[in-house]
Formats: sequence, C-alpha cells, structure tokens
Amino acid sequence: MKAKKSLGQNFLINDTIIENIVSLFYVTENDLIIEIGPGRGALTEKLSKLPSRLLCIEVDKDLKPVLSKFESENCKIIYEDILKVDLKTIVQNYQYDNLYIVGNLPYYITSPILEHLIKSGLNINQMVFMVQKEVADRFSAKSCSSNYGYMTLFLNYYYNVTSEIFVPKKDFNPIPKVDSMVIKLEPRYHEFYINEQKYFSFLKNAFRLKRKTLKNNLSSQYNWQTIKEVLEANKLNENVRAEQITQELFIEIYLKLFENQN
Ligand code: SAM
Repeated sequence: MKAKKSLGQNFLINDTIIENIVSLFYVTENDLIIEIGPGRGALTEKLSKLPSRLLCIEVDKDLKPVLSKFESENCKIIYEDILKVDLKTIVQNYQYDNLYIVGNLPYYITSPILEHLIKSGLNINQMVFMVQKEVADRFSAKSCSSNYGYMTLFLNYYYNVTSEIFVPKKDFNPIPKVDSMVIKLEPRYHEFYINEQKYFSFLKNAFRLKRKTLKNNLSSQYNWQTIKEVLEANKLNENVRAEQITQELFIEIYLKLFENQN
C-alpha cells in the first residue's frame, strides 16, 4: 500500500526509537492512552502491550486491514479525523485514572492538533509527540532566541515542553525532507485567574510584526504608559521586542493592563 503524502504518512521504521518512545510511559491498567494517527501500527503494536487501555484515532480507512490485527478488548481503533472528533464525549466511555496522548503526528496539522487538544478541555497527564525538529525548536524555545514566538507562549502556557529524542529522517519510510524530534508535554497549573482568550489575543498582537518593537505592535490598542511602567520595573527599556519578553513578564503586563476587568 502506497503511503499517502497528503495525509503526512511517513512511517517510523526504527525499532529502537519506537521502544524509546513507548518507554516514556509509566502506565497502569487504570490508565488510558490515545494514539493519534497509528498508521501501520509502528507504535500501536508496542503500546497495545502496555497494561493500560489504548484508543487509536486514524483518518485513513484504507489502513483498516493493517491495523485490525491490533484490535482487542484493550485496544480500540476509530477511523475519524482527529480534528473533528469530540474527545471529551469519546473518553466518557472509559473510566480511567490518568490520560496520556501520543502520536507521530501528521506534520501538516501539528499546531491545529495541539490547539484542538488544548481546547478539548480534557485533563491530560502527559503527551508525547513526534514533530518536525524545527517545530520542536519553536515549541521549546527560550525568550531572546529567534525561534521564540506566539506558538511557544501559547503551548508553554498550558504545558512544559521538553525535547526528548532526536529522530533522523532516514528512520522513516518514505524518507521526509526534514529530521524530527520527540517532545514531551506535561501540564502546568496557574494559581491566578486570567481571561485566556483575551490574553492570547494580546500575545498575538505583541508578535504581529516580527521586526517591530513591542511599542510599535501594542501602543495603538493598549495603554502604553502602563506597559512601560512594568517594563521599567523589570529593567527593560521601551524599545524591547516581543521575543525578549518571558511568559511570566507578559502575564504581569497583561494583568496590570486589565486589572479589575478580567
Ligand atoms: N504512527 C505511525 C508511525 O509512526 O509510523 C504513522 C505516523 S504518520 C507520520 C501520521 C499518521 O496520521 C498517518 O497514519 C495518517 O494517515 C494519520 N493522519 C493524518 N491526518 C489525520 C487526521 N486528521 N486525523 C487522524 N489521523 C490522521
């Protein structure tokens, strides 16, 4: 069966990498793992041998003959588009202690999948994903680096993102154009209340024009005097760019701007 480029089908063929990914999970029989895009079952085969239950979501029905051999009491496969399924409803059929999500993600929809999972409102204990190396660099970037941007802050607001396993392109069939990285995402909890929709719209504005200063990007819509005071209190002058500002400082600025109106 030919791999479908349009569905991002690059199948993992290195057994050691597969074992290393699966070994990132410490699960019991009371846990549930969701695998996104099982493909020909490279990860599914090993994941289905863990004590937890496994639920796989694959959009390509043509893979049924290959995947059906992994189906069992403990391993179910649903043929649906991950972006269209209501995960909260699906997992209601399961009783579990901890929820884990894993996938060698179709690269053309990596960010939409992450946004979909975050918006699902599910309480996820850990996620492990294979993504393009350059995307992993963006997701785990630190402030003041060129990879740091809106998506870094969005994702790191909800999760601590760490790069775990480098995977060269030769470990896939067909061979993609770029290398990959396995990343691990562990949830973060905040003790303050923030209107997330408004905060992320503020961040999008801060990064609107990459080469411009924060002042250029924000002063027409937000009270610049308030922002300037917070910057100065943190020993930054008003010519800073968004990529120089940490999440903690963005939150401090946002909360100061919208004090009492959150
Ligand atoms: N897990 C397999 C492996 O590691 O060899 C396959 C990984 S391949 C990079 C991505 C998989 O995601 C493919 O099987 C593809 O058909 C599936 N896929 C693509 N778009 C999808 C979607 N919207 N929903 C669910 N699965 C999708």
